[in-house]
Amino acid sequence: MQSITSSSFFQFIKGSELRNRFILYFIALSAMPVLVLGGVALYLIDLSHRQDISKLEVQLIDQKVEEIEKFFADTLGILELRVGFFQRSPIPPESQIFVLEGLMEENSAFQEISFIDVGGLIANNIPTVAGKEIAKAVRAEKNISLITDATRLANISRLDSFTDPARGESFVGDVYYTLSGPMVTLSAPVRNKNNDIIQVLSAEVSLSEIHRSIKRARIGTNGYVILVDKEGAVIAHHGRGEIKPGTDLIGLSRVRAVLQGEIMDALGDQDRYISFFEGVPVVGAGKKIPKIGWGLLVEWPINDADAVMSDVRNQVVLYVLFSILAVLVLGPLFVFRLVQPIRKLQVGATEIEKGNFEKLVDIRTNDELEDLGSAFNKMAKGLKRLKELQEEFVFIAAHDLRAPVTVIKGYLSMISEDRSMQSFTDNVKDYLEQIQKANQRLEKLVKDLLEVARSEAGRIVVEVKPIDVRDPVSESVEGLRSLAADKSISLKYESLPVAELVLVDTDRLKEIMENLISNAIKYSPANATVRVFHERKPSEIITHVEDSGFGIPKEKQAKLFEKFYRVSMKETQGIGGTGLGLFIVKELITKMNGKIWFESEYGKGSTFSFSLPLARQKQV
Ligand code: ADP
Repeated sequence: MQSITSSSFFQFIKGSELRNRFILYFIALSAMPVLVLGGVALYLIDLSHRQDISKLEVQLIDQKVEEIEKFFADTLGILELRVGFFQRSPIPPESQIFVLEGLMEENSAFQEISFIDVGGLIANNIPTVAGKEIAKAVRAEKNISLITDATRLANISRLDSFTDPARGESFVGDVYYTLSGPMVTLSAPVRNKNNDIIQVLSAEVSLSEIHRSIKRARIGTNGYVILVDKEGAVIAHHGRGEIKPGTDLIGLSRVRAVLQGEIMDALGDQDRYISFFEGVPVVGAGKKIPKIGWGLLVEWPINDADAVMSDVRNQVVLYVLFSILAVLVLGPLFVFRLVQPIRKLQVGATEIEKGNFEKLVDIRTNDELEDLGSAFNKMAKGLKRLKELQEEFVFIAAHDLRAPVTVIKGYLSMISEDRSMQSFTDNVKDYLEQIQKANQRLEKLVKDLLEVARSEAGRIVVEVKPIDVRDPVSESVEGLRSLAADKSISLKYESLPVAELVLVDTDRLKEIMENLISNAIKYSPANATVRVFHERKPSEIITHVEDSGFGIPKEKQAKLFEKFYRVSMKETQGIGGTGLGLFIVKELITKMNGKIWFESEYGKGSTFSFSLPLARQKQV
């Protein structure tokens, strides 16, 4: 017994429903979790990254807010002087100059600083003018000039920078922009030990320290900060581009939003936009500085902010892709291992259905499938043995039946030839005729069974020699004329014009012709026609047996040459037969190197044709 060779992997890849289903399951079970996990990981990474960005930006803003508030607190703290006496009287004029000079030296942000009278009587009952500057120090390059000359001093009684501190409140003015940078006016009351306001100290303060701090501020590599005053003008920004301090940005919706007190934390979708300053997509945050009403904005170019995350994200994507690739490559391999044995069993079963018990399935998986393979092979061996027994039985039975049939036939012919036959009554003659017919059928059955048994045992012998095909064919036709005449069927033989030598066994060819012609007569109604004719081909002679009989429906044609197969249809009910004739005919023709086929149409008739090799062709 040979084994079924494993169908190649690529054949397998081409098509198998079980495989496709397994691959689908496999991919669904292994790739889906990876995809879902990858997706969730990406989502979480993105989420936490967004939060990190937001945290960093908000932190930077808070730090800058704190810095700015501290600057103001410190600067105002310096201005809020408290003198060491109890009287209402102001600082004596001679001391004022020294105080101013000291303050200027102490704090380089002060560009101008002046004492202002708050009105009322001073010592010696000298009245003072409210809002009038008394002394002033001005920074000019590296020197500080002190002014006490009343003509060079101004009266600022109407300005908030005087009225606020005169009421006891510190004052922070609007930012204004000079060539040396943004400035702001700060003023504060000067109090004595009784907490009386005795004067006002007002200073023009340079914001260059804040400007520098904002300019230097960075988030990531390219993230930056912008500081605007409460009117939306730029106090300071990262320093790139054309924007100068004082540029009005109130037209920008984000600037307006910040100044209106909206908190922008870089988390929302609206916090990702194209920057007015850089022209690139950024993620931004913003906040209003509560006490002074300025606005701080942070912008971080997205590609810079995402740079770190891109690495992580790429790694996750790469991991997911790699895993899916592995699943796609390994999946079919695993499934191949799983499905291949099943396919082998399927092929094995098909072979058994065809009657081929020789092939064994070869499954080596070391598991239940291998056990199933062994069980399958045992079953195949069992079936083979069963078939052999059946063939043996048919052969022995047919062989042993032949002798009594021959004896009966002999005695029947002796009786029919005996003179005493004349003395039999018509009834007895009729019975004898019936017995004779039954015995003929039995003889044919036994003969067919023996032939089948021989064919299965490979014991059909044909002895071919060159013979004029016309002889055995016309002999067979003549032999069946009376059978045709019984049904008024016209049986025609269109012989060949010249002798054509075919390589055949004469007796077998007659057997074939008798089978085909008697079938044509049997399966045709009365008055039909049966035509036998040849066709000469270069290397063979084709013989056709054509009838105008019942025909065979298409769906019943497939198994016509199988043994014991008989077409069941109403027209042929009651017609006797074994279903062995065509099987034997095919065996014999194949043995003689020919082929047989047929065409049939239900209700119109059939044509059975077979080819036989020409003798001279064979001898070449
Ligand atoms: P059987 O002994 O039944 O005639 P065969 O093997 O000779 O067995 O034929 C098998 C079956 O094929 C027949 O039972 C018949 O139904 C069908 N058959 C054979 N020859 C013809 C034909 N010429 N026309 C119609 N049916 C045919």
